[in-house]
Amino acid sequence: MKKSILFSLALSFSSNVFAGWTSGGGELIKDSNNPWFVENTKEVRYCTLIDTNNFSASEALINKVITKALDYWKKDFSKNMILDLGASGYGITKQEFIKEECTDNTDLRFQFGVLTTKQKSYLVDPTKYVGIAVRTHYDQVNLKGKGFIYISPDNGPLKFNIKEKMPNPWSQGDGGILHKVLTHELGHVFGIAHTNATSTHLMTIDFPEQTLRDTGYFDVNIGHLRGFFGYNKIDHQAFCNLKDEEKEYLQIKPEVKCIGLKHSAHTNKLHLYHVENGVYKAPLHTFHFGSSTMTQSTIVKIWLPKEQKVFNSTRQVLNGHNLSRITAFGGLPSSDRSVNKTLYIDFNPLTESIKFFNNGNQEFELRVLK
Ligand SMILES: [Zn+2]
Repeated sequence: MKKSILFSLALSFSSNVFAGWTSGGGELIKDSNNPWFVENTKEVRYCTLIDTNNFSASEALINKVITKALDYWKKDFSKNMILDLGASGYGITKQEFIKEECTDNTDLRFQFGVLTTKQKSYLVDPTKYVGIAVRTHYDQVNLKGKGFIYISPDNGPLKFNIKEKMPNPWSQGDGGILHKVLTHELGHVFGIAHTNATSTHLMTIDFPEQTLRDTGYFDVNIGHLRGFFGYNKIDHQAFCNLKDEEKEYLQIKPEVKCIGLKHSAHTNKLHLYHVENGVYKAPLHTFHFGSSTMTQSTIVKIWLPKEQKVFNSTRQVLNGHNLSRITAFGGLPSSDRSVNKTLYIDFNPLTESIKFFNNGNQEFELRVLK
């Protein structure tokens, strides 16, 4: 789903007709980005609506992809929730998802190329969307949402306005492209907002569009997505305008304008890159992760309305950690062996930053963009 935050606000608040409607992604206003289902919700009733004339994937393939996308998040949350959300994980993704015929009480509608008149007018121009998750109701007592995920058809008048790399993408590669896009939209249902920093790009704002533009015949493997939680925040953010002494500390040449850091999941190392015009060039150094204090930032936040009766908390926002710190060390080829250069990365949600240390003393700090 691609649109500006301002546009989102206009969509959310411009008209009483759409009171309570909010669409996944940008907004971080009060409960608008809360997961639709938390620990008091044990079952989610979902249904599917398919425009079989214009949506190329078959019903059987669609059902398979929905199951895969749900499994993806169930697995990702269960693997990472202790680090990220605390032991309970607030019950996100723990529900049993039960398919039914669409009724007024259905919690989650998957709509493949199908929109009601009201939904069409909410989206204004549906062809601008490859996919979108729209929450149409939110119960502030039970913290339960209700709404629909719309995936644009790949044919017909409502077809997305994107130059796709292959025709009929939704039916290609055993549903692999559809899986990626649907998983993105489902991420919003589970409370994940857009981020500009994951190595999978899964929850970046233009992930659905990019997937259609870029995905060729050899990259449609279902299950191709890598885990989401471990690779956020710092990957894909370049840091520019380094001071001379910071460059000296990092032992990078004066002409290097921007640097970036990427975490390699396979080796559990942090690589420092020379970044030029957004492109990650030569790796400059490698840092090794410390094992003891590695935690990750909280991606899912639950804003608690005062009416809520689910969590016994005096806090207004629930999340896993107020301060998470990844410690990485070593890697700088210092000529002076007595100098122990250690890199700390703080994921304090208030002051997200990367702090560089020298023999235990902080040298400088790079701020991570929101
Ligand atoms: Zn999105």
